[in-house]
Amino acid sequence: MDRFITLKIIDVLMKRLNIDLGERSYDILIGRNILPQVGEFISKRFEPSRSIIITHPSVRNLFGEKLEPGLVNAGYSPGIIEIPEGEISKSLQQAELVYDRMLEMNCDRKSTLIALGGGVVGDLTGFIAATYQRGIPFIQIPTTLLSQVDSSVGGKTAVNHPRGKNMIGAFHQPKLVVVDLDTLQTLPKNEFKAGLAEVIKYGIIADEKLFTFLENNTKEILSLNRDCLQYIIETSCAIKAKVVEKDERENRHRMILNFGHTFGHSIETLTNYTEYLHGEALAIGMIQAAWLSVETGECSEDVPIRITNLLKKFNLPVHSPNLKSEDVISSMYHDKKTTHNKLRFILVKNIGSVEIVDDVPELAVKAALNKNH
Ligand code: NAD
Ligand code: MG
Repeated sequence: MDRFITLKIIDVLMKRLNIDLGERSYDILIGRNILPQVGEFISKRFEPSRSIIITHPSVRNLFGEKLEPGLVNAGYSPGIIEIPEGEISKSLQQAELVYDRMLEMNCDRKSTLIALGGGVVGDLTGFIAATYQRGIPFIQIPTTLLSQVDSSVGGKTAVNHPRGKNMIGAFHQPKLVVVDLDTLQTLPKNEFKAGLAEVIKYGIIADEKLFTFLENNTKEILSLNRDCLQYIIETSCAIKAKVVEKDERENRHRMILNFGHTFGHSIETLTNYTEYLHGEALAIGMIQAAWLSVETGECSEDVPIRITNLLKKFNLPVHSPNLKSEDVISSMYHDKKTTHNKLRFILVKNIGSVEIVDDVPELAVKAALNKNH
C-alpha cells in the first residue's frame, strides 16, 4: 500500500502506517518477529511510568519470552495481569478484578497497558484503559488474525452486559498497534479462517484488488505464506484506518465496516453464540447481504456468486442454518445497529464498492434469506 513507509530495523523489514486522528493519531507497525522491539517502539513515542501486560496464561506462554525482555531493556519492567480465556472475560466483573490489581500495583495516570492477545484481551484492556483514573494510555499487540485486521485498530473498546454484547464501552484509541505476523503460526486454523472473513469483507467494501488477490492466492494464504499475510494484513489495516479517519465515532460512513454483520449477528444470536465463530457467521451474513443487494437492484447475481465461491475456497460456511425468517427479522430490530425501527443495511454495488441504505423493505430481506437456504 502506498500509505506505508518501509522501515528497516536490524535485519527485519517492517511497515509503518500512521492513522491520522489529530492528537489521537498513532502508528500501526506490521512485521515479522518484532515483539522483541516493542520496548524500543514505545520509548520512541512516549514515556510511560510503567507498563502492565494484560493477557491470557496460554498467550503469555507463547509470546511472553519474546516480548518481556525487550520491555525490561527499555526500562519498563512489566507487571503482568492474566485473565481467563473466552468472551466471558469481557465483563464488568473481570474489569473490576483488573482495576483491583492495578491499584495494588500503584498504577498511575502515566502507566501504560499492553494488550497481548486477541480481540477479547484487546477490548477488555482498551475499556480498562479508557476508564482507569479517567483514561490512561494503552497499546495493542494483537495475536489473532481478527484482532490484527479489525479489533486492534479504530479505538472501539467494550465489555458485554448480560443483555447484549459490547453494550458498555468507550471510544479510546491506542497509542500504538504492533502486529507481529509470526504470532499467527500458532493460531488454530478455524480462528485463522474466521479472521479471513473480515479480510474478505474489506475486499468487498473497498478493494477489488484485495478480493482478487484472495481468489488467486488461497492456498498460499492458508499455508500462512508470510508475504501474503503481510499484504492482506497491511491492506486491511489501511482500509480500516481510512474509514476511521473519515468517521471515527461511526456517525455514518464507518457503518460500511458492518457489511454482512446485521445478518451475521442474527445467526449468532439465534444460535446462542455456540455454533459459529463470529467470522463464520459473518461469512454467511455477507452472502445474505449480497443477495439482498440483488433484490434491491444494487448489483447483479454475479456478486453473491463470486463472494460465495471465495468463501467456499477458504472452507468458510456459506449456507444459513435453518432459521425462521420472522425470527431473523425480529432479531435484526433488536440489533443495536438498527435505529427507529427501520432496517438499515450496507449493500454492495460491485466488489469493492458499497453503500448504506436506510429503510430496506422487510420483503426484500425475506427474499434474500430464501435465496441462501
Ligand atoms: P479471542 O480474543 O477470544 O481469541 C481467540 C482464541 O485464540 C483465544 O482462546 C486466545 O487465547 C487464542 N489465541 C490468541 N492468539 C493466539 C495465537 N497467536 N496462537 C494461539 N492461540 C491464540 O477472539 P478474537 O476473534 O481475536 O476476538 C473476538 C473479540 O473481538 C470479540 O469479543 C469481539 O466483540 C471483538 N471485536 C472487537 C472489535 C473492535 O472494534 N473493538 C472488532 C471486532 C471484534
Ligand atoms: Mg466483525
